[in-house]
Formats: sequence, structure tokens, C-alpha cells
Amino acid sequence: LENLKKMDMGIYEVIIKEEERQESGIELIASENFVSKAVMEAAGSVLTNKYAEGYPGKRYYGGCHFVDEVETLAIERAKKLFNVNYVNVQPHSGSQANMAVYMALINVGDTVMGMGLDHGGHLTHGLNVNFSGKLYNIVSYGVDKETEMLDYSNIREIALEHKPKMIIAGASAYSREIDFKKFREIADEVGAYLFVDMAHIAGLVAAGEHMSPVPYAHVVTTTTHKTLRGPRGGMIMTNDEEIAKKINKIIFPGIQGGPLMHIIAAKAVSFHEALQDDFKEYQKQVVKNAKTLAKALEEKGFRIVSGGTDNHLMLVDLTSKNITGKDAEKALVKAEITANKNGIPFDKQSPFVTSGIRLGTPAVTTRGMKESEMIKIADLITKVLENIDNEEVILQVKEEVHRLSKEFPLYK
Ligand code: PLP
Repeated sequence: LENLKKMDMGIYEVIIKEEERQESGIELIASENFVSKAVMEAAGSVLTNKYAEGYPGKRYYGGCHFVDEVETLAIERAKKLFNVNYVNVQPHSGSQANMAVYMALINVGDTVMGMGLDHGGHLTHGLNVNFSGKLYNIVSYGVDKETEMLDYSNIREIALEHKPKMIIAGASAYSREIDFKKFREIADEVGAYLFVDMAHIAGLVAAGEHMSPVPYAHVVTTTTHKTLRGPRGGMIMTNDEEIAKKINKIIFPGIQGGPLMHIIAAKAVSFHEALQDDFKEYQKQVVKNAKTLAKALEEKGFRIVSGGTDNHLMLVDLTSKNITGKDAEKALVKAEITANKNGIPFDKQSPFVTSGIRLGTPAVTTRGMKESEMIKIADLITKVLENIDNEEVILQVKEEVHRLSKEFPLYK
């Protein structure tokens, strides 16, 4: 960052501090990961200079022959990775990918069924302050009160009652495998489109660690920066040519202008990485680590929502320890363990306070941590959460966190 250092000391210094934070802490935010240096180099390349409105071979600007190659490579790699016929790699984010699907498939005012945010869904699946909740008639489904898992017969009943035009499957805070085949059967029964947002689990799907939604959904979206370990961004996939055409038109010129070609190049690099054998091993380890962390926390007396995890994340219910998610997040951050407060299903606390925290293993697994480190991390989390007012203990944990992260260097 020599040039940045000379030009803008303010930003340079903050980036260095952030790099240090990432390097020395333990990152357990389930939606985060660490990209490779190759991905970062592509994202920081001269491609940021190029305007390329349109699609490969059909641009509204001259000089696009090289960025055409970049976008075509990204598309072809994504097609291979997810075994799908049509891909749009231009969405600037997961939310924009999702917005494009609504606009391509249904009309404003139509009924849409999505998982409620309070049960693990995403903002774009129908929250009232999001475009989805403002523009569409949303009917939410959630998890069963006893099992805290999706209850497909209940989802079917809601669908039969409300006859949605589109059903969204996918979540931001759900630790169990989602049965996309069952979702499609329900969608077919009521004549709805099935839209799967696999943002959280895309890496697991690519590696065969989670059922793929591609054979079942009319459209699949994902972010590229979570388990998939690419740059921040979104992507849309379908096997239906007509839907693919509509999606392309909505992304450009419907809701976006010029694509971020440097990010598309970085997406292409991350897809190349995800096609390698060691990516499969990585995703296997992500799941093993999550299961180990959940079990170790259970042994320390924490309740894991739904009793465990099948994927990369878990929700920890803090009620029995008499701590809120808000206080837990704050105390953990002091020890440089980063996680986020999260509502648990049927939470009695407000969304700003919450009774839970969400933990995920994609980032620590990228560093090379395995089962024994997960047991150690469970121990550190317990120490913090059982002593949230004890600065001395938190400081000791912070030192242990530094020691552990030093054993698994990130970029240094
Ligand atoms: N969909 C799901 C399931 C998510 O969890 C998220 C992000 O957390 C998104 C979509 C939105 O992605 P972005 O933050 O890139 O808009």
C-alpha cells in the first residue's frame, strides 16, 4: 500500500488498523470470510477504470473486449461450479440480486412467502422497512416452536391459504439443511415460483456439503462473499432461458448501470479457487468445525437453537446464562472475538437486545483452524460470557485470542 500511504495517510492508517484487527482477532461472524490475496489483487486492479454497461459482446461502451473476457470467464466458471445453464454475475450485492428476482418474476402488490427475519430470514425476504416488505404483500413463515426447524407441512398450509406468486427459501440464521425439493413441491402445488436465496450456504453447495437448490428452484441467488469466499457481491442463476433473459434486463438497465468489472474479475478468481479439490476439503472442515464448536458450547451449558447444526453456523441461546445477545457481543468484542447478537426464534427480547448470538466457522476455517481450536474457542467464549463484567478475565482471554490467531497467520 505504498502509494496509498504517500497519498492519504488517514485512510492508510485505518486500513492497517483493520488489517491488524482481522489478523489478531477470532472472526466468528457467520456471513464473513477471508478472501485470498489473488482475489484481492483482482479486486484492486485497473478493471475498476472500465465502463461496460451491457453484457459480453453487447456493450454500450467501446474498449470492452478484455472485460468481456473477464465476465465470460466468471459466467462459465459459475455455470460449472453450480451446474447451471444461465448466470448473471453483475449484481453489486446480494440484496440487489434479490431485488432483481422480485422485479423479474412478479408484480408490485403480489403475495410473496418468505422466512421471517425473526426466525432467520433476510431483510429482503419481506421485512416491512425493506423494499420487499414495502412493495409486496408478504406472508412470513418460521420454524416450529418445539423443534426450531422448518416444518414443511406448516409451510404448505400457509402456502395453500395465501396462494403466493413466489416462495422464497433460504436464510441468514438457520443452522439446518433446507429441503429445496419439498419447497418446490409446495410451490408447484400452489402455482408459485420457487426462489432460493442460498447466500449463506453457497460454498457448501458448491462443494457438495449441502443439497443444491439448482435442480429445484426457478431462480437461485447468492452473495459471493460468505462461505463462497469471493469478493463482496451478488449473483443470479437459473436453468430457464426466459427467466434468464428477464433477469438480465432487470439487472441492466433495470436497476443497475455499469457493472463493477474489478469485482467481477475477483468473483471469477474465487470461482476458479472454488473449483479446486482443496475447496471441497475446506467446506467439509467448515461443517466439522461448526459441529464441534456447537457441541463444545453445549458441554459448557449453552443451549444451541434446534439442538445443533448441519451447516457453517449456529445460534446460541444465552437465556440460561442470564445474558443478552447485546451484552454478549460487546464483551466478546472486548476480547477480540467477533460475533453478532441475533434473535432466537420466539425471542422475548427486542431485535436490538436479543437472547442469542450467531456464530459461524467459515473465517476461522480459512485460517486453518480445526476441531481442537474449536474446543479452545468454546472455552474462551465461555470464559468471557461467564465473566462479562470482569475486565481482568476478558483481558486474559484477549491475550489467549492473540496467541491462537498468531498460530494461524492470515495475510502476514
Ligand atoms: N441473502 C441472505 C440470505 C443474506 O444473509 C444476505 C446478507 O447477509 C443477503 C441476501 C444480502 O447480501 P448483501 O449484504 O450483499 O446485500
